Amino acid sequence: MHIPFCRTRCVYCDFFLVTRQDLQERFFRALYEETVARLTAFRGRTVQSVHFGGGTPSFVCAGYLKQWLETVAHFISLSDDAEITVEANPEDLTPKKFRDLAALGVNRLSIGVQSFLPGKLGTLGRCHTAEDAVRVTREAMKRFGNVSVDLMCGAEGETAEEWLSDLQCALSIGVPHISIYMLALEKKTLLAQRVKKGLVTLPGEEKQAEMYTIACELLGEQGFEHYEVSNFSKPGFFSRYNLGCWHRESYLGFGPSAHSFCKTGEQERRSANVSSMMRYLASPLEAQAFSEMLSEEARINEQVFLSMRLSSGLGLDFLQRHHKDTGEILETVEKFRAQGLLDVRNGIVKVSQKGFLFADLVAEELMLMKKVSG
Ligand code: SF4
Repeated sequence: MHIPFCRTRCVYCDFFLVTRQDLQERFFRALYEETVARLTAFRGRTVQSVHFGGGTPSFVCAGYLKQWLETVAHFISLSDDAEITVEANPEDLTPKKFRDLAALGVNRLSIGVQSFLPGKLGTLGRCHTAEDAVRVTREAMKRFGNVSVDLMCGAEGETAEEWLSDLQCALSIGVPHISIYMLALEKKTLLAQRVKKGLVTLPGEEKQAEMYTIACELLGEQGFEHYEVSNFSKPGFFSRYNLGCWHRESYLGFGPSAHSFCKTGEQERRSANVSSMMRYLASPLEAQAFSEMLSEEARINEQVFLSMRLSSGLGLDFLQRHHKDTGEILETVEKFRAQGLLDVRNGIVKVSQKGFLFADLVAEELMLMKKVSG
């Protein structure tokens, strides 16, 4: 569920969201309407995970989330061990909010910490302090145990030592899941404008790659599995929701700009809602921006693209089966293996630690170019 509200917009963020809090009530009414209309077709089904993403789901009243879960329960059931995740920002995690979320059945928190350092939080334009970040992450560990923190590297003036200290702080609190993001300069953000005007200089790609490598090495030493480009987990704490998306399992997205992927028999359909709050509020049942049935080529390419972001990789036989020119694809795999970007073992092709940095590039060369076999 996409909850597109934030207190303010962080300087680097280009997500679809609004900062007009007066729209919350209307938004949730529209969301319930959309949910009822779309879930009718799924009556009786069981789901494995619920993910409240955003935006900032922790920013809105937990009662709204409760009502949505109650609405959903009229149509579908949650599996007994369903993962229910809420993305939260440190400034929202008051003792009351912790209690409210736990009462809803939330069993996993994903906290947008980004940094435990005051200066870095300032340059990122975050609303919380370093003390908030440490305090609520500790508290979340006590109350939920299943906690993920997002950390961002590559902020203005950030050094490798500072990045290391962020990682060590998360480790010292004992979180079992960490998501690492390299600050990307998105067009139309305040940060992009500042960089363009020469007011801000960001660390270059090499520096970012160095920081990413530091994270991979340190977290690996500490028993984290690097299971996706940006995600590291202790055993048993993988994000079920994210893994489901990456493994191309069906999911339904609700709210403006939310995406869905549905498999029905042999057919696979991707769809997305409009990225417009006003259009969504005016007519949540007509808010679809697109809906397309995937061709065989698109399905194969998605499988390749997503698998190259995962430590589980892809069977070599899959590539051989779907490329007409088997010799050519084996040559491409061998080229990346020789460059240290791919590992090939027991018939599985997967990106190496170095390869994670180039996962998209590797995937592009392994994807089909209108060469689907019959
Ligand atoms: S809190 Fe998250 S979603 Fe909201 S503006 Fe900041 S980065 Fe974007």
